[in-house]
Amino acid sequence: PLAQLNDPTLLKTDALINGQWVAGSSRFAVHDPATGAHLADVANLGPAETEAAIAAANAAWPAWKAKTAKERSIILRKWYDLLMANQDDLGRIMTAEQGKPLPEAKGEVAYGASFVEWFAEEAKRINGETLPQFDNNRRLMVLKQPIGVCAAITPWNFPLAMITRKVAPALAAGCPVIIKPAELTPLTALAAAELAIRAGIPAGVLNMITADSDNSIAVGKVLCASDVVRHISFTGSTEVGRILMAQSAPTVKKMSLELGGNAPFIVFEDADIDSAVEGAFASKYRNAGQTCVCSNRFYVQESVYEEFAAKFAAKVKTAKVGNGFEDGVNQGPLIEPAALDKVERHVKDAIAKGGRVLTGGKRLDGQFFEPTVIADANADMVCAKEETFGPFAPIFKFKTEQEAIDAANNTEFGLASYFYSRDVGRIFRVSEALEYGMVGINVGILATEHVPFGGVKQSGLGREGSHHGMDDYVEIKYLCVGDI
Ligand code: ADP
Repeated sequence: PLAQLNDPTLLKTDALINGQWVAGSSRFAVHDPATGAHLADVANLGPAETEAAIAAANAAWPAWKAKTAKERSIILRKWYDLLMANQDDLGRIMTAEQGKPLPEAKGEVAYGASFVEWFAEEAKRINGETLPQFDNNRRLMVLKQPIGVCAAITPWNFPLAMITRKVAPALAAGCPVIIKPAELTPLTALAAAELAIRAGIPAGVLNMITADSDNSIAVGKVLCASDVVRHISFTGSTEVGRILMAQSAPTVKKMSLELGGNAPFIVFEDADIDSAVEGAFASKYRNAGQTCVCSNRFYVQESVYEEFAAKFAAKVKTAKVGNGFEDGVNQGPLIEPAALDKVERHVKDAIAKGGRVLTGGKRLDGQFFEPTVIADANADMVCAKEETFGPFAPIFKFKTEQEAIDAANNTEFGLASYFYSRDVGRIFRVSEALEYGMVGINVGILATEHVPFGGVKQSGLGREGSHHGMDDYVEIKYLCVGDI
């Protein structure tokens, strides 16, 4: 698939430090999850190169922060334009290494690029404050200044968007960055880095350290231990988030964490059931269920339970599973064999504990799993507690609104939640009661660049996107001027 790029020079396999492509002393292989085909061998860097990247970023910082906001904005805007001009190639690279269907991959390119556009605009609006004086001989002000060298560690499920959502606000604020993309999807990341260079982002301001899974751990340790790195942004599992937080305690770093979810999707009896079915399908099966905001648990009120379950299963049966490059496919492969094992474990557990299979339920050849819906789910099942991160929808039954809220909140996670209702009182009651950072009401998809994305409880810290997405990349400085 990569032989057909319009611009083959976007296919980079070396890492980027201080504006130079670095081959490293060893390489790691990247594969297509749909076919198992070998795609490329990528530079496998370690602690020494990470130190070099930190030093390069720190050296590049003064000139980058000295640029005017508008100068940085113009460069970011150029990067946005280049990402969009290369949407087809970036989409192809993404489908090849990540597996999501090509239209979905191109959609992610637009979504990922939109953060660059948004923060190019926000760069010009990092406003300070003047405060009323407590003494007429003084004047009080608040400055917002770039925090310093930032590190971003990103996952494979959104190979571009999880990078731009962190890197664009950092660059806009005047911070240099070091990116450690996921080892399963480095090619999209490196292509985006190449376009950043073409856009005029200066050497050292954007560095990308590629590494295999063992070296990623070592690179993470160096980034966390560094006094120079002032901020770590991470999207990935809660388990790794906790490790990074612990490792960052000695240097008291600011952290933005976007961790696991366990999204509930509640259908009340007053819902528009057909609309709920569409929303459920979009929310569950996007990216083969491999997003942290994918619905994981479906709670449906007794009186509409069978209707919803039957309609939802019928809709899921229409899903076409296959290679993301094939026309009409809406569910690609899972990212790796371990992901498939997890889905299978959750499905088998649900069946063993009384689940009724409405559709799917089995592995297919290769790294594919049937889109699966299981009714009569109960709280003892593993899927009630753990995020499946795959194409499996368990449907639980509830009687009262309070019961649904309690079940939805019965998790240490609090990222996205969804519910369907047409009762205005209930919409406000339930929205306020759900312990989640995001609530979708009568929608199954809610992310976009100008809204605050993030979680509460153990789903993370901070918000990405929107004007709030800049907060973690600036420090507030209070000036008190006397002798006026
Ligand atoms: P996922 O559940 O999405 O596979 P992970 O949390 O395992 O997510 O990985 C997300 C990112 O974190 C990847 O870039 C991976 O290389 C990196 N990573 C995993 N473990 C560590 C670690 N101990 N230190 C630093 N980075 C890590």
